[in-house]
Amino acid sequence: DVSNNFGFGHYSTSSGIAGVRERTLIAVKPDGVQRRLVGQIVHRFEQRGFKLVGLKMLKASEDLLSQHYHELKKKDFFPYLLCYMSSSPLVIMVWEGHNVVQTSRMMVGSTNPAEANPGTVRGDFGIHVSRNVVHASDSVEGAQREIQLWFNHTELIDWDCCDHSSTYE
Ligand code: ADP
Repeated sequence: DVSNNFGFGHYSTSSGIAGVRERTLIAVKPDGVQRRLVGQIVHRFEQRGFKLVGLKMLKASEDLLSQHYHELKKKDFFPYLLCYMSSSPLVIMVWEGHNVVQTSRMMVGSTNPAEANPGTVRGDFGIHVSRNVVHASDSVEGAQREIQLWFNHTELIDWDCCDHSSTYE
Protein backbone atom coordinates (compact mmCIF):
# COMPACT_ATOMS: atom_id res chain seq x y z
CA ASP A 1 0.00 0.00 0.00
CA VAL A 2 2.48 2.58 -1.17
CA SER A 3 0.37 5.68 -1.73
CA ASN A 4 2.92 8.12 -3.13
CA ASN A 5 6.55 9.09 -3.24
CA PHE A 6 6.61 11.39 -0.19
CA GLY A 7 6.95 8.68 2.41
CA PHE A 8 3.28 8.26 3.31
CA GLY A 9 3.38 4.59 2.39
CA HIS A 10 4.40 2.47 5.33
CA TYR A 11 4.45 -0.95 3.74
CA SER A 12 7.11 -2.32 1.50
CA THR A 13 6.00 -3.40 -1.95
CA SER A 14 8.57 -6.17 -2.10
CA SER A 15 8.62 -7.80 1.34
CA GLY A 16 5.41 -6.61 2.96
CA ILE A 17 7.26 -5.66 6.14
CA ALA A 18 5.58 -2.77 7.92
CA GLY A 19 7.59 0.40 8.34
CA VAL A 20 10.44 -0.15 5.91
CA ARG A 21 9.07 2.64 3.71
CA GLU A 22 9.36 5.24 6.46
CA ARG A 23 11.35 8.27 5.35
CA THR A 24 13.15 11.11 7.07
CA LEU A 25 14.85 14.35 6.09
CA ILE A 26 18.50 14.67 7.05
CA ALA A 27 20.44 17.86 6.29
CA VAL A 28 24.12 18.55 6.63
CA LYS A 29 24.05 22.15 7.85
CA PRO A 30 26.41 24.88 6.58
CA ASP A 31 28.98 24.19 9.31
CA GLY A 32 29.04 20.49 8.39
CA VAL A 33 29.51 21.25 4.68
CA GLN A 34 32.21 23.85 5.43
CA ARG A 35 34.03 21.34 7.63
CA ARG A 36 33.89 18.67 4.88
CA LEU A 37 31.80 16.28 7.00
CA VAL A 38 29.30 15.36 4.25
CA GLY A 39 30.99 12.07 3.39
CA GLN A 40 31.26 10.91 6.99
CA ILE A 41 27.61 11.69 7.65
CA VAL A 42 26.40 9.94 4.48
CA HIS A 43 28.62 7.00 5.41
CA ARG A 44 26.96 6.55 8.82
CA PHE A 45 23.50 6.27 7.28
CA GLU A 46 24.67 3.91 4.54
CA GLN A 47 26.56 1.77 7.04
CA ARG A 48 23.50 1.51 9.27
CA GLY A 49 21.56 0.02 6.37
CA PHE A 50 19.27 2.89 5.41
CA LYS A 51 18.49 3.62 1.77
CA LEU A 52 19.23 6.99 0.19
CA VAL A 53 16.25 8.09 -1.91
CA GLY A 54 17.02 11.80 -2.46
CA LEU A 55 20.02 14.11 -2.19
CA LYS A 56 20.84 17.63 -3.27
CA MET A 57 22.99 20.61 -2.42
CA LEU A 58 21.50 24.07 -2.23
CA LYS A 59 21.77 27.45 -0.62
CA ALA A 60 18.49 27.81 1.26
CA SER A 61 16.46 31.03 1.31
CA GLU A 62 15.43 32.55 4.64
CA ASP A 63 11.82 32.15 3.49
CA LEU A 64 12.17 28.37 3.05
CA LEU A 65 14.07 28.10 6.33
CA SER A 66 11.40 30.00 8.24
CA GLN A 67 8.81 27.52 6.92
CA HIS A 68 11.08 24.65 7.91
CA TYR A 69 11.61 26.05 11.42
CA HIS A 70 8.10 27.52 11.82
CA GLU A 71 7.78 26.12 15.35
CA LEU A 72 10.78 28.17 16.51
CA LYS A 73 9.65 31.60 15.25
CA LYS A 74 9.25 33.00 18.76
CA LYS A 75 12.66 31.86 20.01
CA ASP A 76 15.22 34.60 20.53
CA PHE A 77 17.82 32.65 18.55
CA PHE A 78 15.51 32.38 15.49
CA PRO A 79 17.08 35.28 13.47
CA TYR A 80 20.55 33.89 14.14
CA LEU A 81 19.39 30.41 13.13
CA LEU A 82 18.08 31.69 9.77
CA CYS A 83 21.24 33.70 9.19
CA TYR A 84 23.47 30.69 9.90
CA MET A 85 21.38 28.21 7.92
CA SER A 86 21.27 30.49 4.85
CA SER A 87 24.93 31.51 5.08
CA SER A 88 26.32 28.81 2.80
CA PRO A 89 25.16 25.57 1.14
CA LEU A 90 23.32 22.69 2.77
CA VAL A 91 23.27 19.07 1.65
CA ILE A 92 19.77 17.72 2.15
CA MET A 93 18.87 14.08 1.92
CA VAL A 94 15.94 11.72 2.29
CA TRP A 95 16.72 8.36 3.90
CA GLU A 96 14.33 5.41 3.97
CA GLY A 97 14.05 2.36 6.18
CA HIS A 98 12.52 0.70 9.21
CA ASN A 99 12.02 3.21 12.04
CA VAL A 100 14.34 5.64 10.25
CA VAL A 101 12.96 8.77 11.96
CA GLN A 102 13.62 7.61 15.51
CA THR A 103 16.88 5.83 14.71
CA SER A 104 18.22 8.91 12.90
CA ARG A 105 17.49 11.09 15.92
CA MET A 106 19.54 8.64 18.01
CA MET A 107 22.37 8.68 15.46
CA VAL A 108 22.36 12.50 15.35
CA GLY A 109 22.25 13.01 19.13
CA SER A 110 20.94 15.75 21.41
CA THR A 111 20.30 19.23 19.98
CA ASN A 112 23.08 20.64 22.14
CA PRO A 113 26.33 18.88 21.16
CA ALA A 114 27.62 19.45 24.69
CA GLU A 115 24.92 17.00 25.84
CA ALA A 116 25.15 14.61 22.87
CA ASN A 117 26.59 11.17 23.48
CA PRO A 118 29.90 10.21 21.90
CA GLY A 119 29.17 8.07 18.85
CA THR A 120 26.43 10.43 17.68
CA VAL A 121 27.11 12.94 14.89
CA ARG A 122 26.69 15.93 17.21
CA GLY A 123 28.56 14.18 20.03
CA ASP A 124 31.50 13.43 17.74
CA PHE A 125 31.67 16.63 15.70
CA GLY A 126 30.07 19.48 17.68
CA ILE A 127 30.67 21.75 20.65
CA HIS A 128 28.00 24.46 20.60
CA VAL A 129 24.21 24.34 20.11
CA SER A 130 24.36 27.08 17.45
CA ARG A 131 26.60 24.92 15.21
CA ASN A 132 25.31 21.38 15.54
CA VAL A 133 26.30 20.04 12.10
CA VAL A 134 23.15 18.20 11.09
CA HIS A 135 19.35 18.25 11.03
CA ALA A 136 17.08 15.22 11.44
CA SER A 137 13.26 15.28 11.39
CA ASP A 138 11.78 14.66 14.84
CA SER A 139 8.60 12.71 13.96
CA VAL A 140 7.11 10.76 11.07
CA GLU A 141 4.58 13.56 10.44
CA GLY A 142 7.31 16.21 10.68
CA ALA A 143 9.42 14.24 8.22
CA GLN A 144 6.56 14.10 5.70
CA ARG A 145 6.05 17.85 5.98
CA GLU A 146 9.77 18.61 5.64
CA ILE A 147 10.28 16.22 2.69
CA GLN A 148 7.46 17.95 0.80
CA LEU A 149 8.93 21.34 1.65
CA TRP A 150 12.43 20.58 0.39
CA PHE A 151 11.90 18.05 -2.41
CA ASN A 152 9.85 17.84 -5.56
CA HIS A 153 8.44 14.29 -5.91
CA THR A 154 10.44 13.77 -9.13
CA GLU A 155 13.62 14.21 -7.07
CA LEU A 156 12.84 11.19 -4.86
CA ILE A 157 13.87 7.85 -6.30
CA ASP A 158 12.11 4.55 -5.67
CA TRP A 159 14.69 1.84 -6.15
CA ASP A 160 15.34 -1.69 -4.98
CA CYS A 161 18.46 -2.18 -2.93
CA CYS A 162 20.20 -5.47 -3.76
CA ASP A 163 20.97 -6.24 -0.09
CA HIS A 164 17.35 -5.83 1.08
CA SER A 165 17.07 -9.45 2.27
CA SER A 166 20.27 -9.07 4.30
CA THR A 167 18.80 -6.03 6.07
CA TYR A 168 15.22 -7.23 6.64
CA GLU A 169 13.52 -10.56 7.20
P1 ADP B 1 16.70 19.77 16.72
O1 ADP B 1 17.49 20.34 15.55
O2 ADP B 1 17.55 18.85 17.55
O3 ADP B 1 15.40 19.16 16.30
P2 ADP B 1 15.28 22.17 17.69
O4 ADP B 1 14.18 21.90 16.72
O5 ADP B 1 14.95 22.46 19.11
O6 ADP B 1 16.37 20.99 17.71
O7 ADP B 1 16.14 23.41 17.17
C1 ADP B 1 16.41 23.57 15.80
C2 ADP B 1 17.79 24.12 15.63
O8 ADP B 1 17.87 25.43 16.19
C3 ADP B 1 18.90 23.35 16.36
O9 ADP B 1 19.31 22.18 15.67
C4 ADP B 1 19.98 24.40 16.42
O10 ADP B 1 20.63 24.54 15.14
C5 ADP B 1 19.17 25.67 16.67
N1 ADP B 1 19.09 25.96 18.11
C6 ADP B 1 18.33 25.33 19.04
N2 ADP B 1 18.50 25.87 20.26
C7 ADP B 1 19.38 26.89 20.10
C8 ADP B 1 19.99 27.86 20.98
N3 ADP B 1 19.68 27.87 22.28
N4 ADP B 1 20.85 28.74 20.47
C9 ADP B 1 21.15 28.73 19.14
N5 ADP B 1 20.62 27.87 18.26
C10 ADP B 1 19.75 26.95 18.72
